[in-house]
Amino acid sequence: MAKIKVGVNGYGTIGKRVATAVSMQDDMELVGVTKTRPSFEAKTAVAAGIALYVPAENVEKFDKAGIKVAGTIDDLIGKVDIMVDATPGDFGEEYKAKYQAAGIKGIFQGGEEHGLTGVSFNSTANYKESWGVQFSRVVSCNTTGLLRTLSLLDKEYKIENAYVTIVRRAADPGDSKTGPVNALEPSVSLPTHHGLDVKSIMPWLDITSMAIKCSTTLMHIQAVVVKLGKEVTTEEVLDLFKKAPRVRLVSSKDGIKSTAQVMELARELGRSRSDMYEICVWSDGIKVVGDTLYYYQAVHQESDVIPENIDCIRSMCKSMEGPESVAKTNKALGIDH
Ligand code: NAD
Repeated sequence: MAKIKVGVNGYGTIGKRVATAVSMQDDMELVGVTKTRPSFEAKTAVAAGIALYVPAENVEKFDKAGIKVAGTIDDLIGKVDIMVDATPGDFGEEYKAKYQAAGIKGIFQGGEEHGLTGVSFNSTANYKESWGVQFSRVVSCNTTGLLRTLSLLDKEYKIENAYVTIVRRAADPGDSKTGPVNALEPSVSLPTHHGLDVKSIMPWLDITSMAIKCSTTLMHIQAVVVKLGKEVTTEEVLDLFKKAPRVRLVSSKDGIKSTAQVMELARELGRSRSDMYEICVWSDGIKVVGDTLYYYQAVHQESDVIPENIDCIRSMCKSMEGPESVAKTNKALGIDH
């Protein structure tokens, strides 16, 4: 079978990781990536042998900066089967029209509304729903994290309701424009969009969320309280999470007491860009009291959606069933399960 020709539009935090992950799959070919400005990332992409495509009006700027471009963004659109669009939220409508006109498929990210594509994607919860579609959306980092555990809990024990408090990172590590630097900032528009976004994939779920922005760049932490429809023990939940794809159990008894040590673990694992693709659940922080389950999970916002983008490509191109794709992506990216 011919390799799936993939382009990445927007070579930023998410785009560059998707590009690397695509190039690690033996059934995909990374045709090229796009960059709007001649930044250091444009230079490192070209130095790594990646074909760079830029807006037609900026070709000269790249020439002047001595960065070799392979063509325009429209040229790249004309060469691929599918574009992973990782531009900042709100460019979706404009690019969707271009992909539509070129007859290619497009995957958007969580910064876009569910309504743009009408179908959203998570490998654990609904791989099949993007099967063969022209457009889909990989939900945000927080939503991906919640779906990895909540979809399994719902399947196994039926969730009555879920309350989530998210302590959000203020900015990504490479971003020095955003804050707060020394404050905690509650999201006062309630309930926050996170729980609502989970409903774009599990519309039947009774879930609400609150969030606080915190002066850290490493990860988000989600404190989850779930009322289950069935009496279960803490050990049963632990066993369920042990078997869950892309969920990693960590323990404070091993010295993993915070997101700092989770990131240190990712560095020790030798992952590309020190990424932690898995959602990390504290095994010693799982507790069932009566019919209510409590747990904490850490989300590496820069990378948990990367394996989902790879699986979404396969689902949309009808190349592989869900479990097979998840296993293949995990193997290529060095994820243990
Ligand atoms: P980013 O700002 O790091 O990268 C966006 C890239 O798109 C940049 O390289 C920028 O130059 C490029 N770009 C800007 N305008 C463009 C245009 N008109 N055409 C082509 N390229 C353009 O953003 P990001 O954090 O990677 O976010 C991308 C998407 O992924 C958003 O929808 C975001 O909500 C979502 N997302 C982000 C995170 C995260 O924590 N960073 C996590 C999950 C999902």
